[in-house]
Amino acid sequence: MSDTIGSEKVVSLALTLTVDGEVVEEYSAEEPFDYLHGAENVVPGLEAALDGRKVGDKLTVTVPPAEGFGEYDPEDFEIFDEDDLEGAELGAAVVLEDEDGYLFEGIITEINDGEIKVDFNPMWAGKTLNYQVEVLGVRDADAEELEHGHPHGADVDEYEDDEDWEDEE
Ligand code: ZN
Repeated sequence: MSDTIGSEKVVSLALTLTVDGEVVEEYSAEEPFDYLHGAENVVPGLEAALDGRKVGDKLTVTVPPAEGFGEYDPEDFEIFDEDDLEGAELGAAVVLEDEDGYLFEGIITEINDGEIKVDFNPMWAGKTLNYQVEVLGVRDADAEELEHGHPHGADVDEYEDDEDWEDEE
C-alpha cells in the first residue's frame, strides 16, 4: 500500500521527543519532521516501531539506549591542551577533524589547569528516548533522495545536502 511505511518511503511525522521528563525535540503538523525510511535517518528503535504503520497512526515509542543513541561510553573522550582549543567554555560544543577529514562533535565537560576534556558521546547516549509520533504523510522517495540517503524538500534544513553525507555516519 502506498500509504504504508516501508523502505524507500519518505515519511512525515509530527514528533515529540522527551528525555528525562523534558521535551527536547518537537515537530508539529505545520512543520513536520521528514525522514527516509530504511536509511538510518532515525534511531533503530523508532524506525522499527514505524515500519508498516500508516498515515493517521499515532504511537508512543519507548526506545532503550541500545536501540537509540547507544550506551554511554565513559572512555569516549579526549584531553586537549588549552592552546589547541581557543576560547573553550564549559558545556560548549566543539567540532574536531581527524587525519582522514572526518568531523566529530564533542562537548567540553571539564576544564582544569590548562587541560580540556571533550566528551564525544552522542548527546542522548545512555538515555531512554520517549517518542510520541503521528504519521502525517508517506510517499515514494525519488532517485536522488535514495542516492543521498535523505529526503529533499523545502522544509528539510536539518539535512546537509552534501554528497558525502552517507560517509559521515
Ligand atoms: Zn540530498
